[in-house]
Amino acid sequence: KQRNGHEPEFLQAVKEVAETVIPFIENNKKYQNKMLLERMVEPERVVMFRVSWLDDQGQIQVNRGYRIQMNSAIGPYKGGLRFHPSVNLSILKFLAFEQVFKNSLTTLPLGGGKGGSDFDPKGKSDNEIMRFCQSFMTELSRHIGDNTDVPAGDIGVGAREIGFLFGQYKRLRNEFTGVLTGKGLPYGGSLIRPEATGYGTVYFAQSMLKTKGDSFAGKKVAISGSGNVAQYAAEKAIEFGAKVVTMSDSSGYIFDVDGISEEKLAFVMELKNERRGRISEYVDKFPSAVYIEGKRPWEVSCDVALPCATQNELNGDEAVILVSNGCICVSEGANMPSTPEAIEVFQKSKILFAPGKASNAGGVATSGLEMSQNSLRLNWTAQEVDEKLKGIMSNIHQACISYGTQSDGYVDYVKGANIAGFVKVADAMLAQGVV
Ligand code: NDP
Repeated sequence: KQRNGHEPEFLQAVKEVAETVIPFIENNKKYQNKMLLERMVEPERVVMFRVSWLDDQGQIQVNRGYRIQMNSAIGPYKGGLRFHPSVNLSILKFLAFEQVFKNSLTTLPLGGGKGGSDFDPKGKSDNEIMRFCQSFMTELSRHIGDNTDVPAGDIGVGAREIGFLFGQYKRLRNEFTGVLTGKGLPYGGSLIRPEATGYGTVYFAQSMLKTKGDSFAGKKVAISGSGNVAQYAAEKAIEFGAKVVTMSDSSGYIFDVDGISEEKLAFVMELKNERRGRISEYVDKFPSAVYIEGKRPWEVSCDVALPCATQNELNGDEAVILVSNGCICVSEGANMPSTPEAIEVFQKSKILFAPGKASNAGGVATSGLEMSQNSLRLNWTAQEVDEKLKGIMSNIHQACISYGTQSDGYVDYVKGANIAGFVKVADAMLAQGVV
């Protein structure tokens, strides 16, 4: 805390892990006196760099770029790049720390990292985005590689940005390798990667509901966000027979009492991905829905909540409202969207609650599958990748049950995910000596 006192999000993420892992270490001699957690909270390397670029007016703009190489005990650093004005060291260190445990849970050989910039893609032209990405990659390229560190997308970094970043890497290094994931299909991308995080979040919720003999059929689902994760979480929930009633962005949320159908979701995808518009435009197209400015969707009555926007977007008061409105299951699509107070409410109420590092691991798992396909120089079918994704999500769910089942039978998925993730990384670090 002394060393990182000015990094609130990072401390929050570490505290959540420490609360469950320290008692486990105290009961397991082999992990004691090895400074394992102390080593895990210290990034192996942090790179911070200047990103200068020319805007459309010919003016020079300056942003700050980062890459946190957190832990490489079980594989090359792996984790997304976030472009958002709120990006700072604390946020990226929390994300990189979570990523280490998440990647371990996937059972694939992936270390943990995260990066990005305080660059705001909103309102920028395609040419400005390209020039920014090229400048960002010019520095980042020195620090990454297909066996060293393999970045991917996150908030503000989708297929368009990954394309520009990959093009610049290839130009600088004169090699075509799987150095980024989330690539387009014509140049090494994997089928199902765009869908994977959202689909995986719903697969995980489905496994949780199944433990209660329940399913998505007929359930009312509240989703926050309207980006990559939210869109595909909505798509899969609809396919499973649920009624998705909300989506949002940072300005407000839409509530559609009739449910967001496949056709309405296609409109949202076109609105957000092609026109880069605001979710409020949904009600112009579908007037039976309402738009609530400046609010988050957790005030509506629902059975299942899928927070898919950003960190700390669901607080303790909102958790109380969700539970009192009958919500029985929360599966996090975003990273750390629920505050510690919200998690406490869910767990005290004994409702199903999955932390992002378990329930949103499908994205990075499928990125791992993209890396395998790149190394093999072949492409698996959508069905093959989806089957593997389902298997991985089911295994993560099982690992949470194994390590998280309490004496009264309640499954503490936070504890389960943290300990299951910790064990593999800790064993690898122990085997590799004092590193
Ligand atoms: P996108 O950029 O595609 O979408 C982000 C969505 O969240 C947008 O609707 C955005 O609204 C909203 N949002 C962003 N910041 C805020 C904020 N401060 N307050 C309220 N709403 C906000 O990102 P993704 O869908 O890829 O990522 C969403 C979450 O999922 C993140 O937490 C990310 O770390 C996590 N995640 C993503 C993975 C992936 O594969 N993409 C993998 C695992 C986790 P607006 O347009 O107004 O900014």
